[in-house]
Amino acid sequence: MKTSKHIPIVRGKDAYLFDMAGNRYLDMVSSWWVTLHGHSNSYIAEKVYEQLTTLEQVIFAGFTHEPAIKLSERLLNLLPSNQKKVFYSDNGSTAVEVALKMCIQYAFNQGLKKNKIIAFKNGYHGDTFGAMSVSERGTWTAPFAEMLFDVIFIDIPSSENLAETKKIIAKHSEEIACFIYEPLVQGAGGMLMHDAAPLSELMKFCRSEGILMIQDEVFVGFGRTGTLFAADQLTEQPDVMCFSKGLTGGTMPMGISTCTEELYQAFYSDEKRLALFHGHSFTASPIACAASLASLDLLLQESTLKKIREIEEFHANFALELGKTKNARNIRQTGTILAFDWESSSETSYFNKLQEKLFEEFMDRGILLRPMGNVLYILPPYCIQEEDLRYTYQQILELLNSNNI
Ligand SMILES: *Cc1c(COP(=O)(O)O)cnc(C)c1O
Repeated sequence: MKTSKHIPIVRGKDAYLFDMAGNRYLDMVSSWWVTLHGHSNSYIAEKVYEQLTTLEQVIFAGFTHEPAIKLSERLLNLLPSNQKKVFYSDNGSTAVEVALKMCIQYAFNQGLKKNKIIAFKNGYHGDTFGAMSVSERGTWTAPFAEMLFDVIFIDIPSSENLAETKKIIAKHSEEIACFIYEPLVQGAGGMLMHDAAPLSELMKFCRSEGILMIQDEVFVGFGRTGTLFAADQLTEQPDVMCFSKGLTGGTMPMGISTCTEELYQAFYSDEKRLALFHGHSFTASPIACAASLASLDLLLQESTLKKIREIEEFHANFALELGKTKNARNIRQTGTILAFDWESSSETSYFNKLQEKLFEEFMDRGILLRPMGNVLYILPPYCIQEEDLRYTYQQILELLNSNNI
């Protein structure tokens, strides 16, 4: 049966969405992982309005503007100390494309040929061609399979597999332009999590082999993992970093790829052919920069940082409750992200059916939760109220313990 049911949403405020019929839904997935401070935030709105009525847009080739400069300075201050330059684009996929082009051309500019890239199995880096190439191949990428470039896929690091992974990398290191990875949490792959220590060790090894590293923080950046960036939990520094999603507080699209001085210098030349020819019409949109600056103001407030820690604690306690049920498996948490596999005993266990059924059950209870297959995850905006978290936990437990799912 082919069905298409789209729920018209007319309004959003804080953690709530309101549909045309006046129903209220708790947005427990931060509207596909973007919303940081809740919907229709008035502080961000004011800052964006100010910018819209001051300078809404200007060509970014040969020109610059204060919001872009300020955002670059403020962001770089928060990132690993080796991150020195900012490249603006307009979504997560383009941030990844730029990062890949930087690393491939870095070799090219030195007269080297490095055509291979390493990526994690089950990774997701976006929907454009380069991003698809470095993501897990599947149903979504099948029509383009023959047109995607060569990637060496490795397992997420654990103390058990590191030695083997290092061997695979060492065998190809001469040809490898870069290693791209989602640090700590692989979002679209099913909220799969790995520890910081083996990832740091893998990064250290890549550094010693002369392999550039692209850390894709499009999803995990801006507090999701409990620290401002996943980078704050790692002992090694990447060469390139990608940001989007929560960058503008989730209010509008913008992408950023940052890099080291060393990378930048390989392009900075009077010789035109060495330049990174990549620019979008809305590169460094002043209004998106203004939204990002406003979002950073809110994120860095002590009350928000405290809230992130509280969500983390609430999740941890709920995880213990989940552990007592028989139908929640592989319960996992990193910071404000909690996920588990929903084991179903009834006939709905067929993943797609379970996914639909759970989505509908929760919507009926006024909660927007959108499982990926049988993986249920909770990812609230930081403005979430304690009682709304409790309500969500309670509804999950009730459904888990009921016999009709
Ligand atoms: C969502 C996502 C992207 C792609 O971002 P878009 O803005 O949707 O293009 C890239 N990398 C990761 C880790 C993501 O979660």
